Amino acid sequence: MSNPLTYSYSFVNGVFGDPVMEVVNKLNGSIYLFDLGDLKHYNAKSFNKVEFVFVSHTHMDHFCGFDHLLRARISSKKSLTFVGPKGLAQQIQSKILGYTWNLIEPEQLSFIVYEIEDHHATRMARFSKASEFSFDYETIHLESLDVDANTKVEFVALDHNGIDSIAYYVSFPDRINLIQDKFETSGLAQGPWMSELQKRYFNGELTSQITIDENVYEADKLFTELFSVKKENFIYVTDIGFTKENIQKISARFSQTLVLFCETNFLSGDSDRAKNKAHLTTKYACLLGRYLQAEQLISFHYSSIYREKSDIQNEIDEYWNKFSKLSPQKLKELIERESYAN
Ligand SMILES: [Zn+2]
Ligand SMILES: [Zn+2]
Repeated sequence: MSNPLTYSYSFVNGVFGDPVMEVVNKLNGSIYLFDLGDLKHYNAKSFNKVEFVFVSHTHMDHFCGFDHLLRARISSKKSLTFVGPKGLAQQIQSKILGYTWNLIEPEQLSFIVYEIEDHHATRMARFSKASEFSFDYETIHLESLDVDANTKVEFVALDHNGIDSIAYYVSFPDRINLIQDKFETSGLAQGPWMSELQKRYFNGELTSQITIDENVYEADKLFTELFSVKKENFIYVTDIGFTKENIQKISARFSQTLVLFCETNFLSGDSDRAKNKAHLTTKYACLLGRYLQAEQLISFHYSSIYREKSDIQNEIDEYWNKFSKLSPQKLKELIERESYAN
């Protein structure tokens, strides 16, 4: 895969540390954090650019960085939005109420929290110092959240040993590029029709005709001849069991993704440990990735029982290649054999 154009990512604590994936939206510089593990070493200047925090679940290794974020944002009057499993708003409130707040202004520290059940955001809470951090839930029913113009996040709650762990699917606006040599041989001159065609693409209005210099063209034909479209999206999934139900749920919601960011806590030889802790192995992650038709698998959250990153990466490379040769039917049969009931 070539480097994504619209975003960059990094694992703040590497692949062995507590999970925090930073995603920078290159279109406007906004930062989205996926999970809030240890943030001690996070770039101080970046805290104020964080717009959204997507929490998979609140096991300590995924949420202990909350205090660092809170500390860094005290003077900010900008709301910070969280998305996560049910109960998250109360957990955030409990953390905040563990401190004394007599010296801040009412408009400092304001939060919006969306809670996910199944594949909907079903509750929303807003709170700030102005209300002494108390809130009433608002009932909502959203299948996705627009985090930015044309950048959308969908979600699905999966099982992690009896609790929900939320997986996220992020799709960025399509990138449209003029195919230069096709344009040069088309005999057309540059003009407002170019942005008009792109506008129609985004509005789903390419079925009509377009007039350029008194000549009439089929808009969809002209568009596909002269422009290339690059989709950019990814899935973030961590801390789930390789259960039949989880695989069914995630594949029903998300597929044909470009990048799957996926935990691989364990090597495939340690599948018993993985099952006990409701985590994935290298083999499970590769099966899942191929099943979701991902073009690339990027793994993280390696157990500290291992020493070398390469031990895990080598297994991933091996399984990823091996499973690329399987037909969808064979892949399905293998998943059926390897997965287990909740
Ligand atoms: Zn974890
Ligand atoms: Zn966990």
